[in-house]
Amino acid sequence: MERHVLSKSTFIKGMQCQKALYLNKHHKELKEEITAVQQAIFSQGTKVGELATLLFPGGVDCTPESFYDFQKAVIRTQEEIKKGTKIIYEAAFQFNGVLAALDILVNDDNGWKAYEVKSSTGVTETYQLDATIQYYAITNSGIDLKDISIVYINNEYEKNGPIDVKQLFAIESVKEKVLELLPRIPNKVTALKKILVQDEIPDIDIGPHCNEPYACDFAGHCWKNIPKYSVFNISRLNETKKFELYNRNIINFMDIPYDFPLNENQWMQVKSELNNESFIDYLKIREFVQGLQYPIYFMDFETFATAVPLFDKSRPYQQLVFQYSLHILTANGELNHKEFLAENNVQDPRIAFIEKLISDCGDKGDVLVYNIGFERGKLADLALAFPQYSFGINKIIERLKDLMIPFQQRWYYTPTMQGSYSIKKVLPALVPDLYYNDLNIKEGGTASNTFAAMLTGEFQGDIDQTRKDLLAYCKLDTLAMVEILKKLKSI
Ligand code: SF4
Repeated sequence: MERHVLSKSTFIKGMQCQKALYLNKHHKELKEEITAVQQAIFSQGTKVGELATLLFPGGVDCTPESFYDFQKAVIRTQEEIKKGTKIIYEAAFQFNGVLAALDILVNDDNGWKAYEVKSSTGVTETYQLDATIQYYAITNSGIDLKDISIVYINNEYEKNGPIDVKQLFAIESVKEKVLELLPRIPNKVTALKKILVQDEIPDIDIGPHCNEPYACDFAGHCWKNIPKYSVFNISRLNETKKFELYNRNIINFMDIPYDFPLNENQWMQVKSELNNESFIDYLKIREFVQGLQYPIYFMDFETFATAVPLFDKSRPYQQLVFQYSLHILTANGELNHKEFLAENNVQDPRIAFIEKLISDCGDKGDVLVYNIGFERGKLADLALAFPQYSFGINKIIERLKDLMIPFQQRWYYTPTMQGSYSIKKVLPALVPDLYYNDLNIKEGGTASNTFAAMLTGEFQGDIDQTRKDLLAYCKLDTLAMVEILKKLKSI
């Protein structure tokens, strides 16, 4: 059997952008490297797929030995069907050069049914299209499919005891939509196949399609001429307006026409950059700083989330706390530090976290966080899951104040913030001597994936050193807040 020309994923890629499809085949070297965060998402997807097979146990697995052996899997699938096998995992079909590997194929009393497993929490238009290309390859291979469904994660499922796969997964038939999309598939397949054999790279410019439905892995190549700081970084400017500017050949701030519809904050960002000007509302900042009650507790949480809940009283993708840092500043300027980092074993870290946090937070003074919605949300989740601690947790919630407000409200804005009020932009603008670059762990996503990997036993680095790195990262987050407040007080 000849090797396929299109797979389900290259078909979807081609539907997003024909240039991406072409580059993927002929210029793989231009592809961006997979990040650790993306890798973590892939491996979660694999685990979810394996778990979903328990919905239909006892099947035969047709997964090929290597990525290049799919044609063997197609033959094996046909053999299993002929043998009368009722349940097949990774059933592979090929028609008209299109390969479709389906997660689960079931032949029950009503006939053949196809199930495609997704580790997300709902059915999207892309999944419907994805199911359509599978339906196309499967039915044209001689299988009379009675139904085709997406199996996805039910994020309302709460684990209590062993994982209940019937509750963890939701199953939704997409056959109706598939039949609606199906007539367009043959022409699309022909068009995409033609793209793959042409000599030239398709002449397609950047656009909103670069991120829809997925962030394109050739962005580093196609966006290389866009400066690091451009109209694409104007805060809260929607995609349509950004590309309206771009399509008028306006990339740099200096070229934005004075009558272009930007809001007050967006103009502030533009003017600040062009004139190298800072904006400071001294009165508002003084009110904010003087309104704080000492001792001030500077608090920051780190969380991790897994598609399949690891602990009782938790849901899929729920962000669970595993670490905090707390700097405590007294009215006379004394600074102390407390912290918590969960053990990296398969124990639920939340009870130990709560108990130490309640004890470390004392009972008076403001608890200052950066982006109150996050810490407040995590504390509210803890109070709900462990009502025996809700009194102490709610006392902390009542004391929360948000250090992000002065920056979010643009009471303090400098050109170096580049339209952002995230602590990663605010810190270098206010306290250039303190930075994350020297740390081994520099951002929350890495901290989260690293801890999750340690918890599930997949981590392969130096555990002792990595725990120190996690502590150093979180500690810097709260030290940054201390220094930012100091700077606000000084002005
Ligand atoms: S970055 Fe945009 S234009 Fe370039 S290949 Fe990807 S989707 Fe197409």
